[in-house]
Amino acid sequence: MVKPASRLEKIPPYLFARIDKKKEEARKKGIDLIDFSIGDPDIPTPANIIERMKEATENSRNHRYPSYEGMYAFRKAVADWYKKRFTVKLNPDDEVVTLIGSKEGIAHIPWAYVESGDVVLVPSPGYPVYKISTLLAGGTPYIMPLREENNFLPDLDKIPKDVLKRAKLLFINYPNNPTGAHGDDDFFKKIIHIAKEYDILVCHDAAYSEIAYEGYKPKSFLEFDSEKKYSIEFHSLSKTYCMTGWRIGFAVGNRDAIYNLGKLKTNIDSGVFQAIQQAGIEALTGDQTSLEELKKRFQKRRDMVVDGLKSLGINVRKPLATFYVWAKVPKKYKSEEFCERLIEKTGIVVTPGNGFGDEGEGYFRISLTINEKKIKEAIKRLSSFKF
Ligand SMILES: *Cc1c(COP(=O)(O)O)cnc(C)c1O
Repeated sequence: MVKPASRLEKIPPYLFARIDKKKEEARKKGIDLIDFSIGDPDIPTPANIIERMKEATENSRNHRYPSYEGMYAFRKAVADWYKKRFTVKLNPDDEVVTLIGSKEGIAHIPWAYVESGDVVLVPSPGYPVYKISTLLAGGTPYIMPLREENNFLPDLDKIPKDVLKRAKLLFINYPNNPTGAHGDDDFFKKIIHIAKEYDILVCHDAAYSEIAYEGYKPKSFLEFDSEKKYSIEFHSLSKTYCMTGWRIGFAVGNRDAIYNLGKLKTNIDSGVFQAIQQAGIEALTGDQTSLEELKKRFQKRRDMVVDGLKSLGINVRKPLATFYVWAKVPKKYKSEEFCERLIEKTGIVVTPGNGFGDEGEGYFRISLTINEKKIKEAIKRLSSFKF
């Protein structure tokens, strides 16, 4: 047998294997599962986007290789959207790159910047790709714990100076998966201050910037980096327009960072199918009614889940953004133990917090990507569950 490269061994083992096994066992027993573990909207892509895609597939010009940095028209749509949505002006020529989903850009940016021994500051709990792509690129992740007493923002004062000196990249993600927390102006200002002092490229994952409630409008990190010197921001159409399967996102910000990511990409992938980019233009520039409806729907579900849990004596924060509710497991359990017991006794599936890093231990994540009827049924089942 050919031995795989040692870099593959750096990837931590798949954490949800035990949960998957429990799910399978429950299914075999005939238990009807209610699955709150999937971070993927259950609602279809809006019709106007699908229509545009259909038309675009008919055009043979779209059948050829796209350009690696993305169609100009898509990058222009991104720049126009940014100007309308945030107070940020972007040059579509060199400050925007199209991605095959934001995950692709997040996974590739360490390859463009990190050398063996370089530090990458990574939040925990967090989207697992930040840490894994750092390890694959040969870098050293430095874990920034996100704690409840700090509103799930990293405590920047606790990062040792010598770590900051060795750091090349800093990943943050607000509104945050999995905690549902959001960033504030002071926090973003503090980040940019550190980035300037230590010459660090801030990689802001803004996948949930549009999924916010009660009038809250998350800001772009670039609003705090007016010269676009220290940051790159990753965006996705996946969550905003229910397009997870389509694979389209983009990165914007510092010209060199966009250039370097693009240089890497052109040697690895060949860009996004142009028909999908056309559909992406429709998503960003077309009718936004479906997004408003989506937010209303998630807000209603959020309230059902949070109020339902409260009525059972479980206190959880009501997130102002994202479609996740982050809750503490009862004290006597570890995250995984609790989640396994929940499946066994109720058929309800949630994600154990430690799946997002060690600092997620003691929590579980509920994803609101499940319909209202099932949420009601889940609350009913929980009322007879002994926590
Ligand atoms: C879903 C998600 C992504 C990836 O989105 P794609 O654009 O579909 O690749 C990135 N970051 C976070 C935090 C996510 O939850």
